[in-house]
Amino acid sequence: MQHDRPIIIGAGLAGLMTALHLAPMPVLVLARAPLGDGAASAWAQGGVAACVGADDDPARHLDDTLAAGDGLCDAAVAARILQAGPDSIATLARHGVEFDRAADGRLALGLEAAHSRRRIVHAGGDGTGAEIMRALIAAVQRAPSITVLEQAEARRLVVEDNRIRGVLVAAPHGALLLPASRVVLASGGIGGLFLHTTNPPQSWGQGLLLAARAGAALADLEFVQFHPTALAAGTDPLPLVSEAVRGEGAILIDETGTRFLADQPGAELGPRDVVARGIFAHLAAGHQVFLDARPALGERFGKRFPAITAACLAAGIDPVMQPIPVVPAAHYHMGGVAVDAAGRSSVAGLWACGETASTGLHGANRLASNSLLEAATCACWVAEDVAATPPVRVRPLADRRLPPAPDPVPVRPILSRHAGLLRDGDGLLAAIRALAPLAAAGGPAADPATLGLMLAVAALRREESRGAHARTDFPARRADFSTRLTLYLTDATAAAARLADPIVRRA
Ligand SMILES: Cc1cc2nc3c(=O)[nH]c(=O)nc-3n(C[C@H](O)[C@H](O)[C@H](O)COP(=O)(O)OP(=O)(O)OC[C@H]3O[C@@H](n4cnc5c(N)ncnc54)[C@H](O)[C@@H]3O)c2cc1C
Repeated sequence: MQHDRPIIIGAGLAGLMTALHLAPMPVLVLARAPLGDGAASAWAQGGVAACVGADDDPARHLDDTLAAGDGLCDAAVAARILQAGPDSIATLARHGVEFDRAADGRLALGLEAAHSRRRIVHAGGDGTGAEIMRALIAAVQRAPSITVLEQAEARRLVVEDNRIRGVLVAAPHGALLLPASRVVLASGGIGGLFLHTTNPPQSWGQGLLLAARAGAALADLEFVQFHPTALAAGTDPLPLVSEAVRGEGAILIDETGTRFLADQPGAELGPRDVVARGIFAHLAAGHQVFLDARPALGERFGKRFPAITAACLAAGIDPVMQPIPVVPAAHYHMGGVAVDAAGRSSVAGLWACGETASTGLHGANRLASNSLLEAATCACWVAEDVAATPPVRVRPLADRRLPPAPDPVPVRPILSRHAGLLRDGDGLLAAIRALAPLAAAGGPAADPATLGLMLAVAALRREESRGAHARTDFPARRADFSTRLTLYLTDATAAAARLADPIVRRA
């Protein structure tokens, strides 16, 4: 018998903040990639939303968040997280993050779509995530209580009687079975389940799958935010062309030069999901879509957007001289492991934070830059709750077989075709029928297919259009769906078996 130390799965902003906040308690951080790689956190461009400006307050930030969430945010959770914004910025600064500041020393604040105030705290211009990760990695490396196991992928959670007992890990030198009674999932998003994504390619939602297989409830799975303008560079993943480019006046045109969104409310600066669907529909009609920054920015483009310029030049496009080809791409998942205010899942000893968690902050659509704030803030609350949870004596675990290395590639075309920006019942049924055998086969695609299946079942169940979830067969928002929906793997599997069987469906 031995006492365990908490295990944190994931080394992005959420995982590293949890580890730092638990110090000096000894913790083990599992990172699938070398520290700093494979985390969406390092790629964040815009910044962290926090109501630190003199003209701003938590109530305004809450109003904007609730409006974006389209009736599905948990207002109490949202109010608590947004209220903590200024403190979270101060905590990040204490860990060494150097935010951009105005000449008078105050934080420089950016403006993003659907925010009614300037409240985006940023670093290095469009390099906020890289600066945050630089500082946190340095802080972690200085903390003797934190052990990081790099290139270690959690493949299963071990659960007995709805209580966490350990983690089964694929490590560089083979399988490891680590006993643990307290595990924090901080494993990022699910963009890698789709063909076009801005996420690190291995971000296919493995943490959600681990939680689902452990018996935890997942929530809001159907809500996937697609960014309207990823650079159509033919790479995987696709580089992001930030909303700020449209904010500076760039327009969307097609191959004929027509400004095809000009008549929509807000035109190119309408809500993110509306613009993404407009581009998607135009592409589906056989057009090409470009972001044209030449009239608005011209020669200024390179200075204002150095990282985007570099990505364009690498793809053979000069944004000063040419329009930039763009395509919508899976960008952020509002859904995740259903957690309470302390980040606890429905399985004892399992917490989640960051993009893996579904706290209720985002509702049906995330307000830009609220995700880094949520990750930083909730990680600290999770750490406090983990620290307050006494360790349980854990028995040595019986050997378990390591599942194969997961491969989301076969799942990506299925979800992109049927569960992407526009969905309908027939398409979602087709996805379920295609994913069910992959999930049952037990091969490398089984885990991603199982999560994809859950997403498709959740999307089929929500017979309305709301926020990022657009059903062409149910185009209106429905009052009887104005609640967050949770899903267990057992229920999803049973529903999929029933739906995939055409005889049962007819009955
Ligand atoms: C291009 C881009 C730009 C963005 N810009 C912004 C922005 O400006 N503002 C904003 O608020 N949000 C932004 N977002 C969203 C935001 O970056 C993410 O929501 C946030 O960084 C998620 O942090 P995280 O710690 O939860 O996950 P991540 O940073 O993705 O970290 C996940 C970690 O878990 C590890 N992992 C995963 N599975 C396992 C496993 N099974 N075993 C071991 N390790 C595992 C990964 O290797 C990684 O270390 C952006 C996202 C992208 C992709």
